[in-house]
Amino acid sequence: MNTEIYRFKVGTFECLAVSDGTFVYPDHSFFVNAPKERLEQVLREHNIQPGDITAPWTCLFINTGQHRVLVDTGGGAGSVPSAGKLLRNLQAEGIEPVHIDTVILTHGHPDHIGGNTDVEGKPVFPNARYVMWKDEWEFWMSEPDLAQLEVEEELKQIMHMLARKNLPPIQGQLDLVDRETEILPGIQAIAAPGHTPGHMALAISSGSEQLLYISDAVLHPIHLEQPDWYPAFDFVREQAMATRRHLLDRVAAEKALMIACHFPFPGLGHVLQKGEGWQWQPIRTTG
Ligand SMILES: [Zn+2]
Repeated sequence: MNTEIYRFKVGTFECLAVSDGTFVYPDHSFFVNAPKERLEQVLREHNIQPGDITAPWTCLFINTGQHRVLVDTGGGAGSVPSAGKLLRNLQAEGIEPVHIDTVILTHGHPDHIGGNTDVEGKPVFPNARYVMWKDEWEFWMSEPDLAQLEVEEELKQIMHMLARKNLPPIQGQLDLVDRETEILPGIQAIAAPGHTPGHMALAISSGSEQLLYISDAVLHPIHLEQPDWYPAFDFVREQAMATRRHLLDRVAAEKALMIACHFPFPGLGHVLQKGEGWQWQPIRTTG
């Protein structure tokens, strides 16, 4: 089995979860306020050696029959050595950048917009309409103040720099949304602010089936069991927690399929209500 591509269907929509690679994060950056001993115990229960978490960067390709849509563009050509594999993985499936007519950017972090432009700064998807939430675009285009983020100064500078590199060149191909509208038939924008000011989730539906692209509203399956633990990357923490709770309740109630960008690949599964939180049920991918 190709571990960088996972093919599935939502109704008649043909979908591919496509790996852009992985990145290693210090475990505490995912769970800033978790008591150390308790965190180590929970990590071990998940067969994760305390210390570092290797998290995938996963994007989604959807062929709706009428449109070829890419959701998020990964880290891109100048990315970290362990990522930037999105284009190669798409090409292995016969999908070239010119085939993509819509690129939806869920938020302005470097692992989601890094593949917007090539090494010369030109848009990678020349025929695509790029779509982003209006608040998100305005935030990154206005010299954002990231002081409240609990991450290292160096990472804040990287975020700034990569937003400046990857957003202005797509301006001529850009559509902004500011409400929960249908971006394309069967693909609806969902307001999911908190992780970033204009973070967007997507409800993708065809026939009776639904997939929620939750993007970075949840970063790790452990956040489902420990809803009070938050990651360093959430910009407005209380708002991010409220969004997380709202979306997980919705996915659980609707028994919808969910895809999360940084869960173990392909990041697809269902959410069950459990006690004060939820439980992640990844789909079976072997066999
Ligand atoms: Zn991310």
